[in-house]
Amino acid sequence: MTPGRPQAVLFDLDDTLIEYAPAAAREREAVTEAVRDHLPTGAVAGFLDRFDAYLFRHHAEVDTGRVPVAEFRDRRLRHAMRPWHSPDSALCRRVAACADATAASVGLAAGAAAVLAALRDDGVRVGIVTNGPLGIQTAKCTRLGLTDAVDTLVTSQDVGRTKPDGEVFHEALRRLGVRPGAAVVVGDSWENDVLGGLRAGLAGAVHIGPDRGAVPAPPGLLGRAERAGDEVLHLLEDLHA
Ligand SMILES: [Mg+2]
Repeated sequence: MTPGRPQAVLFDLDDTLIEYAPAAAREREAVTEAVRDHLPTGAVAGFLDRFDAYLFRHHAEVDTGRVPVAEFRDRRLRHAMRPWHSPDSALCRRVAACADATAASVGLAAGAAAVLAALRDDGVRVGIVTNGPLGIQTAKCTRLGLTDAVDTLVTSQDVGRTKPDGEVFHEALRRLGVRPGAAVVVGDSWENDVLGGLRAGLAGAVHIGPDRGAVPAPPGLLGRAERAGDEVLHLLEDLHA
């Protein structure tokens, strides 16, 4: 291993190794189309607000497996439509299919596979730490060849907690046999990945995504990269673990 390189790098999945946002935008349009005829004129924005708010407040229930995926989707749709309409099972199935289409259509971020391969070639252990149901996240990784490209995949459902809880990071590092102080996290969520990873005792963090402007950088932040490509490798070289 090159001196100064971490012994392990933990990657977030959605919008880090996988380009998720474009598929999520398509899902939003498809869901809007599916419910539009069941809502009064002008109610779509209110519906989407309720649809988003339910996920924001309750995602941990499905991400940890406490509520099955199908049940969670039904509850979310019923909640979002409650002021105007009670969805029947056909509509629930149609909206659920929109989410399935997202999982089936996401692709790898440019450069992601090369970064994983370069790290492993260099003797660095790599893992994925992701908030999401085990079945959905595993299926995405398998379809995109990520399962074989990493040394471990830890979902929030495996742990029963969601990032930024440190236990998600610690479970991955236990499996890899690497202590937190010799590991780095790479992810697009400032709260879940960057701050969560650093609070869990990891030596460093790389933030994926747009510049956050004047937000103060916490100790351990190695820098920012537009995507999980070559830039990440350069930032990791700056670490002296
Ligand atoms: Mg993410």
